[in-house]
Amino acid sequence: MKAMLHQGSGEGRWLEEEDVPVPSPGPDEVLVKLETCGVCRTDLHIVEGDLPERKAKLIPGHEGVGIVVARGEKVSFPDIGDRVGLPWLHGTCGRCEFCISGRENLCREKRFTGYTVNGGFAEYATAQASYVIPVPSSITSADASPFLCSGIIGYRAFKLAESPPSGRLGLFGFGSSAHLIAQVAIKLGRSVAVISRGRNHLDLGLKLGADQAVELSDAPALLGGKLDAAIVFAPSGHVLKLALQCVKPGGTVTVPLIHIDSVGQMDYETHLFHERRLLTVEANTRSDAHEFMHLASTLGIRSVVTEFGLSDANHALLQMKMSKINGAAVLRII
Ligand SMILES: [Zn+2]
Ligand SMILES: [Zn+2]
Repeated sequence: MKAMLHQGSGEGRWLEEEDVPVPSPGPDEVLVKLETCGVCRTDLHIVEGDLPERKAKLIPGHEGVGIVVARGEKVSFPDIGDRVGLPWLHGTCGRCEFCISGRENLCREKRFTGYTVNGGFAEYATAQASYVIPVPSSITSADASPFLCSGIIGYRAFKLAESPPSGRLGLFGFGSSAHLIAQVAIKLGRSVAVISRGRNHLDLGLKLGADQAVELSDAPALLGGKLDAAIVFAPSGHVLKLALQCVKPGGTVTVPLIHIDSVGQMDYETHLFHERRLLTVEANTRSDAHEFMHLASTLGIRSVVTEFGLSDANHALLQMKMSKINGAAVLRII
């Protein structure tokens, strides 16, 4: 099969196309023939070495969608022919204090698609059968791909931010995750402010129904102390601190990011006091994933997608790095 492997070869040439054997599913795994795979900022962190290497010659990608074409002898669900998504959470231990208390996202032995095991930048991938996410027929594969990480983890951050039903939510940074969560938040009654450096991102936010689009440097003046809650999608300590300045007393800022540049110094009065809460969000549980897929289907959430061929994965990553993607980048595999 054709696959894009991480060889660590420098900016814009992180991945190399190779012909590799189609993997065989283990007893509790499925083999999926992929149709699409989203490109996430975490893929960029992996290929740029912001995150420690966990597997040599890795196939990245954790937003793959495709058809189950084979399964191991212990698998009773999903069926051959089912369309499923392969999310970031590849598997957990199932036994630890976190796994048995509904917090499998915090399991210390969790494995990740496209990071600790091969992922979806390929024609086929294997996955743990009990961790794949069925994709409702109303959602296309290209739409569903960004849902699998950007959507699900953004949704967990949205829930944990606890913005009141008619409250004001700020989205700091407006890429793949934010453009999906903006739609969810608006359809669930929130008024949304989009904060970004990019004019194209601000315009997309307004088009999707945000009622305010604010250039990042204007955020303290226009939004200071005015938001009920905020989610930080930009991997920047500076932006995180701006978000804290913009929430009301008692407001929550959630941060669904695996990596952030230096957080730097915080001032207690400016950033933290008055019962403001700062909460990082790590990965997701399977129940977050099923809940988001159902909600996305019910609310009619759509991804704004720029498609690339599988061989163009480097180009897609570079465009993302340069903030040139509006919405989500998706690799079209077949
Ligand atoms: Zn565990
Ligand atoms: Zn991701």
